Amino acid sequence: MYCPKCLNNTLSISSKGVINITINGKQMDAGRFLFNLESQEKKQQLKPALKAKLQEFFKWYSGFQNKAPITFVSIDTSDMRCEEGCGISAKSRFSVIDVLIPKAELLELLAVEAKCYGIEIQLQE
Ligand SMILES: [Zn+2]
Repeated sequence: MYCPKCLNNTLSISSKGVINITINGKQMDAGRFLFNLESQEKKQQLKPALKAKLQEFFKWYSGFQNKAPITFVSIDTSDMRCEEGCGISAKSRFSVIDVLIPKAELLELLAVEAKCYGIEIQLQE
């Protein structure tokens, strides 16, 4: 990935950090979870952790009066490292879709929850 500071292709995800989930521009207070890539076992906890958070989100969102279709899903982190040593601001967000979470798996997880709560998914690319 390209570093926003030095513009080199030297940016990679940290081995540990926090993943934020924002859906339709909304993030729950609890809409984040820790990731750890230091072992295969810990990496395997990523998908169940995401699934649990998506379940929480849909449960919360289903209580809204105006349940607009889901058009925008962001799964991102600020925990990135540049080989050149650039400081990456906590405000910079980098998508982990297709980096840590294959898009197909995310779409599958979303489809299951959306169906369960009767919410439409109309993602805009
Ligand atoms: Zn850099």
